[in-house]
Amino acid sequence: MKILVINAGSSSCKYQLLEMDTQSLLCSGLVERIGARAGCLTHRTYRDGREEKIVREHPFPTHEESMEEVIALLADPEAGVIKNKNEIAAIGHRVVHGGEKIAEPVLVTRRVKDIIRECFMFSPLHNPANLTGIEVTEKLFPGVPNVAVFDTEFGMGIPEEAYMYALPYSLYEELGIRRYGFHGTSHKYIAHRTAEYLGKAPGELCSVTMHLGNGSSMTCVKNGGCFDTSMGLTPLEGLVMGTRCGSIDPAIVPFVMEKKGLSASEVDALMNKQSGLLGLCGHTDMRDVHSRIEAGDKRADLAFNMLVRSVKKILGSYLVLLEGKTDAVVFTAGIGENDSLLRAAVCEGMEAFGIKLDRTENSARKPGARTISTPDSKIPVLIIPTNEELQIALATKDLLEQSA
Ligand code: AMP
Repeated sequence: MKILVINAGSSSCKYQLLEMDTQSLLCSGLVERIGARAGCLTHRTYRDGREEKIVREHPFPTHEESMEEVIALLADPEAGVIKNKNEIAAIGHRVVHGGEKIAEPVLVTRRVKDIIRECFMFSPLHNPANLTGIEVTEKLFPGVPNVAVFDTEFGMGIPEEAYMYALPYSLYEELGIRRYGFHGTSHKYIAHRTAEYLGKAPGELCSVTMHLGNGSSMTCVKNGGCFDTSMGLTPLEGLVMGTRCGSIDPAIVPFVMEKKGLSASEVDALMNKQSGLLGLCGHTDMRDVHSRIEAGDKRADLAFNMLVRSVKKILGSYLVLLEGKTDAVVFTAGIGENDSLLRAAVCEGMEAFGIKLDRTENSARKPGARTISTPDSKIPVLIIPTNEELQIALATKDLLEQSA
């Protein structure tokens, strides 16, 4: 069974085609700068352990035209991996926000699309693009089921005292203002993989996942479900991120609006796109932050230390919520999987809390899931590579089989 996974952004579209019988990746790609004068499509095919790359640089006026070119590449007589698009059994879409109405993966219907539309107000950048992705594949793959997998899924399991904000209760009732949580696909995947790695029943796992990438979030997993999560109504809350400020005193918002004469959407853009590591030191990529630190840049040093502190503060609070029963703490995503200096800084001084990092293991570069704590560390520290696309494809396959 072949499943296509689509992650449509406002001017980009990421995709993967997976063979579910072997859980193997057939091809992946990214179309960038859709709608701009100069677009770019990078397509990778994986065959017999080899990777072939095709790059096409020309304008891609719409998502539909981009997808038409992707389909032509997938079914190309020479470079393609399928004979024709009818081989694709279903399409799984990443959708950022499902609000309170949908959490679990669902087959796309008119009602589901209406709900995705209703959630535009919570995710104005992502949900409209995700819906466009769905509408394009509905048109180009008539009769093929589309499944929506929500980023809010895993976080929706948290208890009421974790999802409510201490604002007037009517704001929750009228506007749905609550913590939803994001990166749910990754957090769910990592919780399953962690249980598997530790040889535990998924429903018994108690762990902390640190998804640290360009966007970063953490979850506290209790008995296999999400017990708390760091992102909130939107993906802005929580950790210091590449371009997002994370948690700040909310009174800063009206203060900055007044003093700088900014509108609500301008201050929103400031906090989402011009803050975090970028706002502090001018770089969003941790590799650049490290180069700047080595060059003696004090702001880069500050940015790194602030990110580490924000992770430690949430890690500490989740260890407390788990009341001494933490089975593992897990690093994942671009920074979590690759940045040994950040992992070492986060785990520094945590011995009294049961976390003892093995410096050699932590510094080694090895693929796959692995332990980076010492054998006598009370709480194992793990690196588990995330795979959101595989999780979306698995959810799509499950739903297809259930509805067959
Ligand atoms: P993601 O959003 O999960 O794709 O993560 C992207 C981020 O991972 C990049 O912005 C980098 O900051 C970070 N990253 C990737 N590779 C490395 C590396 N070798 N060392 C440090 N950070 C890395």
